[in-house]
Amino acid sequence: MDEAWILVRCICGNSFGSRKASFSSCPRCGSSKGKTQREFESSESLAEAVAASNLPTQIKQEVEARVAAEESRRAAVEQKTRGGPEAIRRIMRQSTRDDGTLTIEALSAELEKEGYDEPSAEHVMGQAEMEGILVRASSDSWSWLQ
Ligand SMILES: [Zn+2]
Repeated sequence: MDEAWILVRCICGNSFGSRKASFSSCPRCGSSKGKTQREFESSESLAEAVAASNLPTQIKQEVEARVAAEESRRAAVEQKTRGGPEAIRRIMRQSTRDDGTLTIEALSAELEKEGYDEPSAEHVMGQAEMEGILVRASSDSWSWLQ
């Protein structure tokens, strides 16, 4: 039993599906000069391909725009992750001096080096102090608690 299906592109521009074993003429113009584009093993995947082939240009563009929007949203999430707690913690570690303390100045320089405008060093220090990660050691330096 030959269950192969084919996607046919007719000379009139219409795409349609057919059983490979019994190739039919184009349902739109009746021509049998269509070219086989692809073969499928199920009528379901063939149906999807036919629908995709016959998508009007405008809908195609809308679908592409939606995909592009989804990609830029994902990029934004990645950007956020980059500035997430782990990344900030790593930068804090990098800014720590040999004596185990950390200054706003050093952290600020390190954040800048990594290309961060946000959060500010003051904000990071304040947050870390609140979370009990850092404790103020002097007027301008902090020590690690963890
Ligand atoms: Zn046709």
